[in-house]
Amino acid sequence: FTASKPFPVAQYGGRFTVTMMPGDGIGPEMMGYVKNIFRYAGVPVDFEEVQITQDSTEEEFENALICIKRNGVALKGSIESKYGDVSSGSRNATLRTELDLFANVLHCKSYPSVRSRYSDVDIILIRENTEGEYSMMEHENVKGVVESLKIITRKGSERLARYGFEYATRNGRKKVTAIHKANIMKLSDGLFLETCRNVAKEYPEIEFNDMIVDNTCMQVVARPQQFDVMVLPNLYGNVVSNVICGLVGGPGLLSGRNYGHHFAVFEPGTRNTGLSVAGRNIANPIAMLNAACDMLEHLKLHYHAELIRDAIDQTLNVDMIHTTDLGGQATSLDVVQNIIQVIQASTKENKW
Ligand code: ADP
Repeated sequence: FTASKPFPVAQYGGRFTVTMMPGDGIGPEMMGYVKNIFRYAGVPVDFEEVQITQDSTEEEFENALICIKRNGVALKGSIESKYGDVSSGSRNATLRTELDLFANVLHCKSYPSVRSRYSDVDIILIRENTEGEYSMMEHENVKGVVESLKIITRKGSERLARYGFEYATRNGRKKVTAIHKANIMKLSDGLFLETCRNVAKEYPEIEFNDMIVDNTCMQVVARPQQFDVMVLPNLYGNVVSNVICGLVGGPGLLSGRNYGHHFAVFEPGTRNTGLSVAGRNIANPIAMLNAACDMLEHLKLHYHAELIRDAIDQTLNVDMIHTTDLGGQATSLDVVQNIIQVIQASTKENKW
């Protein structure tokens, strides 16, 4: 369930064109790894590269949006959003709103070889991506008093909830949990919860429950196995997804998918810029590579997605090539080179 209309993907003679936005921090080096691995895996994707930073002009940003609209699909690194700079807001958030990428989907699943508190986490997080606290409507009416608007709409909540239930139905999931703080935010989160409850009635075969966000954080850490699919408003989704990503191995592993009715943007799940690890050959490339595989699956390039995913699996879980964030000593390049070797070995076997 990704679109009510087919995506307008750019495709010329069997090759796809995808927008690549490297972003800041580790983004550019991660994209270099993606391009290299795609080359060895023979992936029929051409990247149209556009670099956007917080300092890019409005025209450059507009052109980047047009590029994504033209191609329909993008692979993205995080754009730095400096504190206190109110002039441009967050380019990441604006991009999601402008493209109406209303659903952010994260599959938080334990990796067998990555040491963490639990080995059986398997949660799908579906986060509202365009409204809530990210409406970027903040103002200081009186000096020292700031108002910040949180926007929750029935339409926005309904399409997210429906996305969650459709996802559960189509992927054999059994339960959807709506996360909220409706005991305090009675109107806004109240509307979100009420809308989820109404949508749930249309899906009697899927179990539905709801949970307050602070309890959710505690439950996720104490007993994550109780969760299957979660639907969350924007900010809670951000916080809870980072807690769960942390639980299964940190910022370097998982990918995140952003869908609207027309476009799709793929990126690392925790959306870090990783400025502190940039340019040091230590960042974990797996999150961006998983995002690239998600993108290939979206384009129905399943053979190539599987080829790269199998090589990631072999590298992480069999060859145990782990970067320092996972407790290992490997460099980013060690991981990438191992993946390439596995791809070369398996394509040779297939006489590809
Ligand atoms: P910073 O910009 O200070 O690095 P971020 O918020 O971007 O902070 O990232 C949070 C933390 O996660 C930082 O410690 C960063 O180094 C780490 N991090 C982010 N991405 C990766 C990655 N791909 N591999 C290893 N560590 C990462």
